Amino acid sequence: MAPSGPRSIKRGCQRVLYWIPVLFIALIVAWSYYAYVLQLCIESIEDTGEKVVYLLAYHVIFVMFVWAYWKTIFTPPMNPLKEFQLSHSDKELLEREDRGESQQEILRRIATDLPIYTRTNSGAIRFCERCQLLKPDRCHHCSVCDKCILKMDHHCPWVNNCVGFSNYKFFMLFLAYSLLYCLFITATDLQYFIKFWTRGLPDTQAKFHILFLFFSASMFSVSLASLFIYHCWLVCKNRSTLEAVRAPAFRHGTDKNGFSLGFSKNLRQVFGDEVKYWPVPVFSSLGDGCSFPTCLVNLDPEQPSSPSSSSSASKSAAEGRQFPSKPLRESQSRLLSSAPSWSDSEGASNPVMTIENEA
Ligand SMILES: [Zn+2]
Ligand SMILES: [Zn+2]
Repeated sequence: MAPSGPRSIKRGCQRVLYWIPVLFIALIVAWSYYAYVLQLCIESIEDTGEKVVYLLAYHVIFVMFVWAYWKTIFTPPMNPLKEFQLSHSDKELLEREDRGESQQEILRRIATDLPIYTRTNSGAIRFCERCQLLKPDRCHHCSVCDKCILKMDHHCPWVNNCVGFSNYKFFMLFLAYSLLYCLFITATDLQYFIKFWTRGLPDTQAKFHILFLFFSASMFSVSLASLFIYHCWLVCKNRSTLEAVRAPAFRHGTDKNGFSLGFSKNLRQVFGDEVKYWPVPVFSSLGDGCSFPTCLVNLDPEQPSSPSSSSSASKSAAEGRQFPSKPLRESQSRLLSSAPSWSDSEGASNPVMTIENEA
């Protein structure tokens, strides 16, 4: 049942307030469109060739930027599959136990059927009390969305959405295209900005738009560039922002490189196998978001369902149960096997080797 009374009113008000940063960005983008297209290109640039080239290039970047931003905002974050949810009988069993250790025993038993390799820092099974589910690897509970989000990166107020498995590629493209948008405006506005100070511009209101366009675009470029470079580094290392702050804990201890498969495989996990889809805001990330290939699977003696082991071995271990018999989708398993068409700069064709090298 939906909460009623003051709580639901408070929640409704919060939901409206959360859209303010998005509205702020939308207004700035709308103004920048007016200032660049009308005031700079149409009103101030006299050379027709320059005008056409600027307008064409601007609109291509503008469409890609708005498209990626839209997809980041409106792609719902993915929640864990029902396999990770506690069954009715397990819930009852858990409620009956009041000792933490016995509860852990129950959770550990359920977890053996699932492709879960990470633990809490104290070595316990990661369980979300609020959603009543076993957290898949890299999944975290977002207090703003009040849900468990697959491969949660962070909750971004500027898109009023959780950035996670379902929209991380869109978020990366949003950063890339917004940076490109700002750099393009800064570069093409520069000569008119100089003319402003050398009094080479006619005395119209356009000159103030040109001035503020340059200031705002260059300032946004600096902040976007730092954020974009940081996220490129995260993609190369196969870490989420949360994992960069606190390394994921595995059975043998924490390992910040636990999900890294080498540069090109890490890149493909986010952007997909086909390079032609990389710059386009359509979903092409590999995997299902619930299980991730980890090089450490082979080091974990208690996890029989190693995705890199032969399929018959994992089938017998799973004893006919459907989910563990294919803990990773085909695309993910391919990530763990060596890819002949790609040359890995970090030499990660053998996953176990990578860990030893990087440790
Ligand atoms: Zn949760
Ligand atoms: Zn969230």
